Amino acid sequence: KVNEVLEVNEMKSAKSGEVEWEDNLGYFIKKKLRVWCRLEDGKWESGMIQSTSGDEAFVLLSNGNVVKVSTGELLPANPDILEGVDDLIQLSYLNEPSVLNNIQYRYSRDMIYSKAGPVLIAVNPFKAVPIYGNKFITAYRQKVMDSPHVYAIADTAYNEMMGDGVNQSIIIRLVWTISFFLLGHPPWFTFLMLFGESGAGKTETAKFAMQYLAALGGGSEGIEYEILQTNHILEAFGNAKTSRNDNSSRFSRVVQLAAGERSYHIFYQLCAGAPSFLKERLNLKVANDYNYLNQSECLTIDGVDDAQNFHNLMEALDIVLIRKEDREQTFAMLAAVLWLGNISFQVIDNENHVEVIADEAVTTAAMLMGCSSDELMLALSTHKIQAGKDSIAKKLTLQQAIDSRDALAKFIYGSLFDWIVEQINKSLEVGKQCTGRSINILDIYGFESFKKNSFEQFCINYANERLQQHFNRHLFKLEQEEYELDGVDWTRVEFEDNEECLNLIEKKPLGVLSLLDEESNFPKATDLTFANKLKQHLGSNSCFKGERGRAFSIRHYAGEVPYDTNGFLEKNRDPLQTDIIQLLSSCTCQVLQLFASKMLKPSPKPAASSQPGALDTQKQSVGTKFKGQLFKLMHQLENTRPHFIRCIKPNSKQLPGIYEEDLVLQQFRCCGVLEIVRISRSGYPTRMRHQEFAGRYGVLLSEKQLSQDPLSISVAVLQQFNVLPEMYQVGYTKLYLRSGQLAALEDRRKQVL
Ligand code: ADP
Ligand code: MG
Repeated sequence: KVNEVLEVNEMKSAKSGEVEWEDNLGYFIKKKLRVWCRLEDGKWESGMIQSTSGDEAFVLLSNGNVVKVSTGELLPANPDILEGVDDLIQLSYLNEPSVLNNIQYRYSRDMIYSKAGPVLIAVNPFKAVPIYGNKFITAYRQKVMDSPHVYAIADTAYNEMMGDGVNQSIIIRLVWTISFFLLGHPPWFTFLMLFGESGAGKTETAKFAMQYLAALGGGSEGIEYEILQTNHILEAFGNAKTSRNDNSSRFSRVVQLAAGERSYHIFYQLCAGAPSFLKERLNLKVANDYNYLNQSECLTIDGVDDAQNFHNLMEALDIVLIRKEDREQTFAMLAAVLWLGNISFQVIDNENHVEVIADEAVTTAAMLMGCSSDELMLALSTHKIQAGKDSIAKKLTLQQAIDSRDALAKFIYGSLFDWIVEQINKSLEVGKQCTGRSINILDIYGFESFKKNSFEQFCINYANERLQQHFNRHLFKLEQEEYELDGVDWTRVEFEDNEECLNLIEKKPLGVLSLLDEESNFPKATDLTFANKLKQHLGSNSCFKGERGRAFSIRHYAGEVPYDTNGFLEKNRDPLQTDIIQLLSSCTCQVLQLFASKMLKPSPKPAASSQPGALDTQKQSVGTKFKGQLFKLMHQLENTRPHFIRCIKPNSKQLPGIYEEDLVLQQFRCCGVLEIVRISRSGYPTRMRHQEFAGRYGVLLSEKQLSQDPLSISVAVLQQFNVLPEMYQVGYTKLYLRSGQLAALEDRRKQVL
């Protein structure tokens, strides 16, 4: 077997690599080596070539059949000994069927983690796999185990953060969805970034990472417990059931649900599990009595006990969250959201103007918010406009009133969620000296493509597009640029850049977001005029495709997504009227005052663009606000050392043991697994400044160096330890080493010291 590998390698180097592999067919025939053969249905089967004639080949498949295929449909398979390797870098032949097969081999043996160079690949097992818990944490901590694992990544991140300092305290922060919460700019921090589509396992994997970090970082059980408890809280408030994932991290789904979907878990938990005194105080009914919950005819999830989860949540809140008053306000706000959804209107004239129906819903909502029912009713049914010196209350139409009510509910829930993340992060920092070191776990909603996609999917996919760019830049661009700048001999590897798609979305003034803002400010505009504007101005961008009527498509890095502009304008306009913000700031409920104050803060705008005497500083649109938040995150990411985890969904049925090749391949393609492997295989993942290297390993030199310059010391070290010339490169400022080299040197250092 070993010989086989050697031979293959020999042959490969003799014939310049895999590109011209077809020249090697004769060798494969002679040595009876396995190949991949693409059959008519597009599936890859392994087999052995028996003979060729022209550009046709006869292949004996593993099942005994012989097929005739074009030689273009053949690819080299890896020798058996390489089956199921830990790191795809180890494959002698890098091609799609080999990668697919390698991951499948591992997945079918419950080895759900693999490496693709620096990236961890995690295949969702959709069942409990016995590779977690204290035993495994210790094994990874003590380096007894080294197979790919989320624990191993967390360990690397942790060690990096610790540096040489012992007993540094590290803050573990959650950056959940787009509710970024990072205090200031820590001088040194790292990110664990999770990518993958909805249901791929990001949140689950993030939890295991936290479990590991908690076990190390805390030292005391209390802290570990505390961090893990935050999961219950964030899950309850941040997750909901979708048709694809019973526990999906969502944003903005308070007021509208599709069939088979639920709103955030917390609402059902509260209704099912609140103790009677709380029920009484909040005038709480069962979930089915609330319009925001009963519209999708999906109130429970199989195997999930909402009441029990409420008890877990209460416990978690006790441990982590905050003061009793804060907890009470949290529940009051949740109930207020539910009651707002039950507020109804009656039409009072033939222009469709409405009044709020004064019923239990209004009185309860007002009571919970800390205002009078009259004030709430007025704010929900009228809109104050300035006419000269006076302000006139203009009545709203039915649709306007409904939108305004829903906007208020969404605003309260959204602000509440951000506030809770803030409280949790604060409580995790209590008692730690401010070292500025932190590990941030970024778990954002993955790429989404449904039959019908709206503004929400557009925002989600836009964010993913940006993160993808960060990923690309980090792994490919920066890497290559660094080699070139530092004078390292290097052949460029081409990679897919998604600049064009980002331009399509972000470019000013002609990009989707700008055009959307323009149309949103134009009173006569409709979703159709918006769609037409897009088609008129963006047709030349290769990522854009105009479709019939209100529809258009974007070619995202992960595939083409059709969007329906229905509702885009309405969703983009920030529908929260100033009247409502003013109402909130006058409520006796303190958190509402706080939420409102954040909205009323005048945005720092360049003086030139603000009109003198303009009353209401123009509010940002939802899209623009989203972009701003995203840029803030990207800026944070720029100065960090990221660790990437790619979660893969093996099948769309959410079942264990099923591996849908096409689905997996599509995910591999969209995250460029092959390119990552190719680049890391030919690259030098370890790099160290000359000084650093000389300082660390200079002590190993048997003869004292007369010249003390770091470069000569470094080179002397490399020579003394017979590090082969192809295993390193000397740059102007740094040494670049192939993977594995440093480990050997470290070993020696340990023996000597
Ligand atoms: P995402 O956050 O990417 O949308 P989740 O992390 O919520 O996906 O995972 C979806 C479901 O898949 C989980 O509820 C869980 O049942 C299952 N799952 C994911 N990762 C694992 C894992 N490592 N072990 C067991 N089950 C998992
Ligand atoms: Mg999730």
